[in-house]
Amino acid sequence: MQVAVAGAGVIGLSLARSLLQAGHEVTVYDRAEVPNPHASSVDRSRLIRYAYGRQAGYAGMVDDAYAAWDRLWAELGESHYVRTGTLVLAQPGATWARDSANALAAMGRPVEWLDPAEAEARYPLLDLTGVERAFYVPSGGVLHAERVVAALARRVRALGGTVREQCPVESVDTVSGRMVLADGTRGQADMLLLAPGPWAARLLPDLEQRLTPSRQVVTYGDIPPGTRAQWDAMPMVLDIGKDSGFYAVPPVLGEPLKVGDHSFSLQGDPDWDREPGADELRGIFESAGVRLKGFDAYRLRDGRTCFYTVAAEERFVVEQRGRAAVFAGFSGHGFKFGPLIGERFAEVAAGRRSFESFARWAEGEGG
Ligand SMILES: Cc1cc2nc3c(=O)[nH]c(=O)nc-3n(C[C@H](O)[C@H](O)[C@H](O)COP(=O)(O)OP(=O)(O)OC[C@H]3O[C@@H](n4cnc5c(N)ncnc54)[C@H](O)[C@@H]3O)c2cc1C
Repeated sequence: MQVAVAGAGVIGLSLARSLLQAGHEVTVYDRAEVPNPHASSVDRSRLIRYAYGRQAGYAGMVDDAYAAWDRLWAELGESHYVRTGTLVLAQPGATWARDSANALAAMGRPVEWLDPAEAEARYPLLDLTGVERAFYVPSGGVLHAERVVAALARRVRALGGTVREQCPVESVDTVSGRMVLADGTRGQADMLLLAPGPWAARLLPDLEQRLTPSRQVVTYGDIPPGTRAQWDAMPMVLDIGKDSGFYAVPPVLGEPLKVGDHSFSLQGDPDWDREPGADELRGIFESAGVRLKGFDAYRLRDGRTCFYTVAAEERFVVEQRGRAAVFAGFSGHGFKFGPLIGERFAEVAAGRRSFESFARWAEGEGG
């Protein structure tokens, strides 16, 4: 089959890789250079975590996601992942930590609950004043997102696929599989896979009602001198309250400490306002200050904006439309599932799995 993929983020490239391995002819088009620094997939880090609040369906997909990453690392001959473990802080009045722990226990992965004093004794960099309790799981870690996307693009080319950069798909006819590129060239494919990230509604305007691009600011900073050994032993920290929260990613994979914001802005346009302001950067970075002892010695280095594409209940939107399939709405948690989604969709293309069951699984409904 001839397959055209619109979008060379982690999803489009993972689909391309798996379909090439299944013997299809694949061309990937991207509106920008690859990796596109403005795409959702392109940042220094993305997390793999089992803690998923009440979204137990997605927690249940993480084992398979890990296995898919391992197959990718074996193929690449290199890994862009490091395990850190996960520390989840439970805020008074918030249920996310408890819901996550319950879901993990139901999966046969009990968590280790710590009271604040125990957690501070184990992780002396932390100040857990006001935290109800915390849980630790040894699983979870950090993917170097930009290196993954670059490696996937190289892999797609090595498998005989074509990646056309600076080549926007202007419009598509999902019924016939025809498409028009921005330079006016027309093309047709047996199968059209649309994975345009936060630009999805530009290509498929009806998605505008269901998907909200959400501008998020992430920050990077330097840890105080003399704390390297303690940071090397630190897990990722997820501090999720009822209405707000932050996450801190330890300085791993040669990158600085990262601090991001858990709440969705639910506004912005992925082509505009991409430079974060100094106040925004400071606000996000300092949100971690309340949890880090001696925060005055931490130094904000820089930051960037990234876009979530938020769907209802953060459930991925995977739909078949004629000769096309849409992959969108990966919200704030799609990266970890990229290679797995590629592999599962190749099973659909081979007729070994129905599209309906694949779509339900991608919505976090299990299966
Ligand atoms: C700040 C932040 C933190 C996150 N943290 C995590 C995390 O810890 N763990 C996790 O699993 N996930 C996380 N995510 C979510 C994850 O990064 C996304 O769900 C995932 O990267 C989406 O990938 P994608 O391929 O769908 O989209 P993108 O990476 O945006 O790729 C879409 C590509 O399509 C191209 N494109 C768009 N329109 C066209 C067109 N018309 N023609 C041709 N090309 C086009 C774009 O140039 C782009 O390269 C986070 C996201 C953000 C923003």
